[in-house]
Amino acid sequence: IVSAVNVVKTYGSIRALDNVSLDVESGTVTCVIGPSGSGKSTFLRCINQLETPDGGAIRVNGELAGHRVVGGCLHPLTSREIARQRSRIGMVFQRFNLFPHMTVLQNVTEGPRQVLGHPGRQCRETAARVLEQVGLSHKLDAYPSELSGGQQQRVAIARALAMDPAVMLFDEPTSALDPELVGEVLKVMKDLAMSGTTMIVVTHELAFASDVADSVAFMAEGRLVEIGSADQILTDPKEERTRAFISAVR
Ligand code: ATP
Ligand code: MG
Repeated sequence: IVSAVNVVKTYGSIRALDNVSLDVESGTVTCVIGPSGSGKSTFLRCINQLETPDGGAIRVNGELAGHRVVGGCLHPLTSREIARQRSRIGMVFQRFNLFPHMTVLQNVTEGPRQVLGHPGRQCRETAARVLEQVGLSHKLDAYPSELSGGQQQRVAIARALAMDPAVMLFDEPTSALDPELVGEVLKVMKDLAMSGTTMIVVTHELAFASDVADSVAFMAEGRLVEIGSADQILTDPKEERTRAFISAVR
């Protein structure tokens, strides 16, 4: 459902992504691991078109991100068309990024109402469903400041789910949380995975990867060094760099 081919992204002289290729099948979970600065966030940001790659191509649901091909030539999409493509991709960041002045319910109905133009009643029904999925049906009228970090992150997940995305991207969703709150967020993510949500998850939680991931990709210095089953990468990687990273994280 996501296909990246030779994606390149540079910042000045830094090659943040150096020919990264990855295929993610519908209904699967891919975990991306790797040291700080290896390009993991940049890769997710390219998939979500928060960044424009300098080279290569990304397809989501068969659609080329950011461009259309007309008579063999690439034409950039309008910002409106890009917004439509982006609305099909859910993203959850390390920090929760909720709207502080809106209640939980308003945070979750905002996207479907403003971006998808769904009627109010449908937005509220969708919100009720996704908030139940993340275990927060009892917090509809709370403001973000009244919630724990784990609850806020679960609202952020619900907000992304409310857009009915083709794929959910998670960028270290638990690394800003107090340790005792990590489990509840991972549990929600695990339930999503079990229900067939297509997910790409940047994480240092190797136990989660081992439990939930269909594939694990290891990145270093802007390259996708190695990809395989969770079992193979986490217990018997081919590359020395992967092995060193995993033993350092464990
Ligand atoms: P971390 O584990 O610390 O989150 P990461 O694997 O997500 O790291 P990226 O944030 O993707 O790494 O960064 C990859 C490289 O690109 C780094 O060298 C970083 O300094 C550089 N970089 C990322 N964003 C920018 C930017 N907006 N401007 C300049 N350089 C950037
Ligand atoms: Mg990052």
